[in-house]
Amino acid sequence: MNKEKCIVVFSGGQDSTTCLFWALRRFKEVETVTFNYNQRHAEEIEVAEEIAAELGVKHTVLDMSLLNQLAPNALTRDDIAVEDGEDGGLPSTFVPGRNLIFLSFATIMGYQIDAKHIVTGVCETDFSGYPDCRDDFVKSLNVTLNLSMDEKFVIHTPLMWLDKAETWELADELGGFDYVREKTLTCYNGVRGSGCGECPACQLRQRGLQAYLEKREEVRADV
Ligand SMILES: [Zn+2]
Repeated sequence: MNKEKCIVVFSGGQDSTTCLFWALRRFKEVETVTFNYNQRHAEEIEVAEEIAAELGVKHTVLDMSLLNQLAPNALTRDDIAVEDGEDGGLPSTFVPGRNLIFLSFATIMGYQIDAKHIVTGVCETDFSGYPDCRDDFVKSLNVTLNLSMDEKFVIHTPLMWLDKAETWELADELGGFDYVREKTLTCYNGVRGSGCGECPACQLRQRGLQAYLEKREEVRADV
């Protein structure tokens, strides 16, 4: 168990909750940070708050509403479709470089509270077109942040090379499968757990879950 402190970038979704379970296995001291950028579903912040409380970790909400000043706004411009990114991905309302900003702020918070480790659920496997989800980018930013503050932060990306089914498998290995399945919010329509079943986020989540459950059945049948 690593005795150093760790911050999980946390949205209350499947990916970041799996990351939280991952961090709790590895680090003695874990905190969470959620960025409030006026998400279309305010529930996201509430869910994050609730999960953090249930899992016994400190939760900080940082106000990032300034991002809206730079974002083409799908709520006010009808030529931009309202398309949310996946958990951790970018909705059409937001600026490119969001992870650059969020990871930088999480790391500055790390400096303040003496947390050397930052954990994020970004993932290159279902790469949504945003270059700042890529492994090369995260590694490069890690170096830049260390130079900027003369520190030795480590940005961890436990989901970087996992597909959705493998992310469920990881949650299961960490003992968090049922919890992630029932408590997290991925759905664009703000329905927790298995969600509305209709929106793209629900469909992606369901496909991954189905693939993992089938794999688990096969493994059990072989035993
Ligand atoms: Zn849904």
